[in-house]
Amino acid sequence: MNTTTAIEVTDLRKMYSGDVEAVKGISFAVSAGEVFGLLGPNGAGKSTTVGMLTTTILPTSGSAQLVGYDVVRNALAARSIASVVFQEAVVDRSLTGRQNLELHARLWRVPPEHAGARTDELAATLGLGDLLDRAVATYSGGERRRLEIARALVSQPRVLFLDEPTVGLDPRIRAELIDVIGSLRDRSQTTILLTTHYLDEAERLCDRLAIIHEGTIVALDTPAALRADLGEKLVELRAADSPQIAFGALRERGIAGDDAFSVGATITIPLHGRSAPDAIGAIETSGVRTTSITSRAPTLDDVYLRLTGGQLTDAA
Ligand code: ADP
Repeated sequence: MNTTTAIEVTDLRKMYSGDVEAVKGISFAVSAGEVFGLLGPNGAGKSTTVGMLTTTILPTSGSAQLVGYDVVRNALAARSIASVVFQEAVVDRSLTGRQNLELHARLWRVPPEHAGARTDELAATLGLGDLLDRAVATYSGGERRRLEIARALVSQPRVLFLDEPTVGLDPRIRAELIDVIGSLRDRSQTTILLTTHYLDEAERLCDRLAIIHEGTIVALDTPAALRADLGEKLVELRAADSPQIAFGALRERGIAGDDAFSVGATITIPLHGRSAPDAIGAIETSGVRTTSITSRAPTLDDVYLRLTGGQLTDAA
């Protein structure tokens, strides 16, 4: 393993009892200091993957290393250099923020002479300054989440796992938290692996992302490169009649290519250099009835929808 590789996953697989193959042999490597996203719908295998990397779930086969420590053969060492922010709270609500951080500093054997400075530094990074001496029970959801992240960073982990860090927060608090996580990436050399359903969050925070679907990685690249796969422009239409029949007709006439996809009545057609007026004209003369047609630039949502089930394969 390269010394700058923080996470190396090779053909990792998990079969649960009852023949559920939750993770079907995935491989990827994350460089030190990188923010890497695992993106996928519910049931895709994200939590199982994070569980294996954080040594709480035993892989069925394959291997994974955190800064060179194998998560099975050297689980204690792997655990000692990593930290996890779970969706559920682990901080103690009856204690203040500072007491929680000090407690975790002791648990992680941070020398007492460094613990105070570390607490202050984390409080500043995560914008907790004024809250530190209040009981956690009085924190808002976003404030508690920031304390959870500070708690996970007390041990100065080489690898930080964030499991859906902004789920359930209102939009403003979410935006603030994304900003704080973004600043972590600028200020520390900690490697971050985060799971999320939110595409804006992935786009904003991740250097690279893996889209995981039914236990398999279906795409892995930078957000910009993933978007670029769909070209510079696409046409989106809503079918007035059966979307399956409309999609089939557009395919047959060569208007929709292999990477066109459909979700409900909406059909999305990447143009790959063809002009939007040309494509819209072709749709209008094809006999396919629409309730709207627009053209726009592709987003990460398009990439995600195409790869995780937007495609109507039976209409091809
Ligand atoms: P995600 O985190 O992407 O939502 P999970 O890793 O939780 O996905 O789940 C992947 C698949 O494995 C799902 O089909 C889920 O039902 C199944 N699964 C998860 N945990 C268990 C378990 N303990 N026993 C059996 N099946 C499980």
